[in-house]
Amino acid sequence: MSCNGCTLCCKVLPVPEFNKSAGEHCSDCGYSGCLIHSVRPDICRNFFCCWLRYKWEEDLRPDKCRVVFELVPGCSTYVGTVDFKGHLGKFSRSDSLESWIIGVVNRNRAVVLSNGSQRQVFAPNGVGSNQVLGELKFAYEKWMKQLEGNK
Ligand code: SF4
Ligand code: SF4
Repeated sequence: MSCNGCTLCCKVLPVPEFNKSAGEHCSDCGYSGCLIHSVRPDICRNFFCCWLRYKWEEDLRPDKCRVVFELVPGCSTYVGTVDFKGHLGKFSRSDSLESWIIGVVNRNRAVVLSNGSQRQVFAPNGVGSNQVLGELKFAYEKWMKQLEGNK
């Protein structure tokens, strides 16, 4: 698996081991990737975004569509962290991203976009945003407990 030069997760996601906050560039990130690849922390070593893991189309590569998508185990909702700090309503989504979101919702799955301070929920017909966020929170907390138990 190759990130093909994308480094977006090294910016938009937090790395607690380095006190790196979400949205700030990791100081160990070079133009084409991690400068400390062989000794990077486990949180980086174990991270594979959906684009990489599921071999999504090139237009949805995170540095192109400006969103890093993940799945929380036990939950079908795609969670996208957006590389955009302002009001999410001003985030200009690409045609590919828009049509992908519409396709996901039509297949009865939800998408949540987040930029750290705001969330935008795309839910299938008849499913409320609160239900999507509640199920996501439940799955995330269960996952965190499992990870704690494995330490
Ligand atoms: S966001 Fe995905 S493709 Fe981009 S660097 Fe991270 S894991 Fe690789
Ligand atoms: S340590 Fe490497 S892989 Fe981890 S966030 Fe920094 S640059 Fe990215």
